[in-house]
Amino acid sequence: MREEKNRKERVPLRVRFARFMAVRNGPDALGRTVYYVLLLSLLLRLFIDHFSLYVVQALLLFIYFYRFFSKNRVRRARENQRYLSMLGAIRRFFALRRRRFRDRKTHVYKRCPTCRRTLRLPKRRGTHTAVCPMCAAHFSVKIR
Ligand SMILES: [Zn+2]
Repeated sequence: MREEKNRKERVPLRVRFARFMAVRNGPDALGRTVYYVLLLSLLLRLFIDHFSLYVVQALLLFIYFYRFFSKNRVRRARENQRYLSMLGAIRRFFALRRRRFRDRKTHVYKRCPTCRRTLRLPKRRGTHTAVCPMCAAHFSVKIR
């Protein structure tokens, strides 16, 4: 009995913390974003000193720690996944904008009327028939 008690006491703090965190969500991409938004809002307080900012910061802090120590990892993972797919969609949108601008002299970007995919076509004046490589639909493209 006494020995068992001693063994319990010898467990290092980092091991005990690791056991504590094993069933918890911990840091993830959404958590990091919440953390960075919180840091940014702290910087913002140098310029704006309004009560609503404190409320927002308290809320962000609560969300961060709630998600960090949450045992409902399935739900937290789903939230994180939804956040990542949203972020991916935003990134793809801006990547396409950048590519469109970069290629503006040599290519045009047209949407396939059948499958809605965006196609990159060589910029040649006139009316052409394009074939979508995704769904093989033929459609007419006018390039000025
Ligand atoms: Zn198509």
